[in-house]
Amino acid sequence: MRKPKILIIYTGGTIGMRRDANGTLVPFDFNSIEEEFPSVRQLNVDIEVDKKMTPIDSSNVTPERWAELARIIRDNYEACDGFVVLHGTDTMSYTASALSFMLENLAKPVVFTGSQIPMGIMRTDGRENLITAIEIAASRRSDGSPMVPEVSLYFQNRLMRANRTSKLSAEALNAFDSCNYPPLAEVGVNIFFNDDDIIRPSAETAREPLRISEQMDENVVIVKLFPGITERTLRSMFAIEGLKGAVLETFGTGNAPTEEWFLETLAEAIGRGITIVDVTQCRSGAVDMQLYETGLRLKKIGVVCGRDMTSEAAVTKLMWLLGKKLPKSDFLRELSKPLRGEFAE
Ligand code: ASP
Repeated sequence: MRKPKILIIYTGGTIGMRRDANGTLVPFDFNSIEEEFPSVRQLNVDIEVDKKMTPIDSSNVTPERWAELARIIRDNYEACDGFVVLHGTDTMSYTASALSFMLENLAKPVVFTGSQIPMGIMRTDGRENLITAIEIAASRRSDGSPMVPEVSLYFQNRLMRANRTSKLSAEALNAFDSCNYPPLAEVGVNIFFNDDDIIRPSAETAREPLRISEQMDENVVIVKLFPGITERTLRSMFAIEGLKGAVLETFGTGNAPTEEWFLETLAEAIGRGITIVDVTQCRSGAVDMQLYETGLRLKKIGVVCGRDMTSEAAVTKLMWLLGKKLPKSDFLRELSKPLRGEFAE
């Protein structure tokens, strides 16, 4: 069997930092990856390195960068068997969630990873994250098809569905978690793939060419509720000119105040065409709008149930769907069903 060809795309972040002769942290040149990490050669993989993206700190990432990344993957899709995207950890879950929606008919692995400690520091977690991400992107089943043909995120021994992840620690090396979905693979001495939890494209989808939809509509907002939020605050958020969508981070199973001004503000916004998605502030568990009066009232005014979706997935899905300019009924239908495994049905 031909060696799998993997494209490494370095977009920036801690993983790509090394010390120069003066001890200053500077970006690492991934073109010399095989000299730097001879162990990569043992992987039996052909490695290509993208030269187009300029590295940035991921706090500066924008939907325009997501589109650039999607285009690089599209342009190399036929020639490569898998992709490893090296990204700053701070916004990696947003970018990886966005890409999971933007890459349509994806049938090859796109594995995001990064590190908490720069590559050039002895104790780096980047080396293992990078090597294992390459190995996962190159893994095939006995029939030759890719092991994980979806957008995933590898960090500290776990491969997770990208649009189920959040960065939960600024300190720990296992910085990411997927609280509502099991890992796609667990890594110890061996890599164990949880086959039943991995989405595989239908034979029909796998035959379709990769399509990217680059248009993301940025007229969205995330509104996190807290006890004491005032009518003035809430109204001013929903009065933002041109606003089209909001992710409402509610309490517990999707609950919110039942005061008239609160519900009126949301109902007026929905009346003006703004879509509101209810997700929970809790790390795990799901929104159930039928359970309490507080949730039920949101449902009655037309708030969309986000189930167990992360805010990262909800906001990028909203941007992506709004960017498609669908008729409202199609838009709401697509929003309310899982398209890339981003929430449980
Ligand atoms: N600030 C860095 C970034 O997100 C942090 C990291 O890579 O871990 O680009």
